[in-house]
Amino acid sequence: MHSYSLMASAKINLYLEIIGARPDGYHDLAMVLQSIDLADQIDLRPLGTNAIHLHCDHPEVPQDESNLAYKAAALMAETFPDVLAKYGGVEITIQKRIPVGAGLAGGSTNAAAVLVGLNLMWNLKLSDKQLQDLGSLLGSDVPFCIVGGTKLATGRGECLSSLPVLDDFYVVLGKYRSLCVSTAWAYQTFRHQYLTNELARENRQQEVCLEKMMSAIKDRNNGQIGQLLHNDLERVVLPEYPQVQQLRDEFRGLGCAGMMSGSGPTVFALTNSQTQAQQVLESMKIAIPDPDLDLWVSKFRDSSIRVSSLTK
Ligand code: ATP
Repeated sequence: MHSYSLMASAKINLYLEIIGARPDGYHDLAMVLQSIDLADQIDLRPLGTNAIHLHCDHPEVPQDESNLAYKAAALMAETFPDVLAKYGGVEITIQKRIPVGAGLAGGSTNAAAVLVGLNLMWNLKLSDKQLQDLGSLLGSDVPFCIVGGTKLATGRGECLSSLPVLDDFYVVLGKYRSLCVSTAWAYQTFRHQYLTNELARENRQQEVCLEKMMSAIKDRNNGQIGQLLHNDLERVVLPEYPQVQQLRDEFRGLGCAGMMSGSGPTVFALTNSQTQAQQVLESMKIAIPDPDLDLWVSKFRDSSIRVSSLTK
């Protein structure tokens, strides 16, 4: 049996609208999700026993059963016990490059990589749709992370429709290393402030622009896409985290379309070339000379998980 090495891409939200609260505690969403080439490496090695072992080089990532990649392997083992008995378990090694708790779906993309990798290792021949159905049991972003690219995500985020691929953007990402925003806190606060108050809800509705964003993407109008970036969660995260607001303001001050990704605290800015992205990164280092601020240049990708090597 082969060992697999997979690259698992992060995502950013070009658009995130919270439509309403659901009785199951989740929210109905409309999102445009985009894969970028900032990626973790996930190595899968067959084990002689039925066990699942996990190692990760990042101190903030759990190495036990609570790790989403572990949960993905456990779900596969539970769903296909005969295959587990035939092929045995797996050793998972995660080399983290995606910042943790950053609004970039790091855990979800690790889980997606394990589902895709075990599908190959155990010769299951599951379709993307079957893998996405399994992924939706692990988290709302996992189905997107199986396929990646540029997608409209509705429902909890698990109902995906394809959009024209936008692979000609570069993106500069900024995140304060010591800053983490709880996704659960961000959604709960938003629910409390905006979804239970009819006036706030109506005012907000006037600002949303999904249709315009979809048209801009279909026309591949990069300028318009930049202008139409939208994230409802900024309403609760920016007032609470002034550093995130400052990061966003600095990007915008440099003339870039900038927006928070997911529940933050990562802020991204779009550019049309690698040279421009590098210039923005250098300008940001000068504008905010804080050693706690990490900056990356990345590029849009038309997919998420890719097998980078395979060994016997
Ligand atoms: P999302 O954008 O999907 O809300 P995120 O990018 O904000 O996610 P993650 O990097 O996925 O956040 O991490 C959220 C929490 O999940 C972390 O605090 C970490 O303890 C836990 N976690 C579990 N498994 C993983 C994993 N494989 N990689 C990163 N974090 C993980």
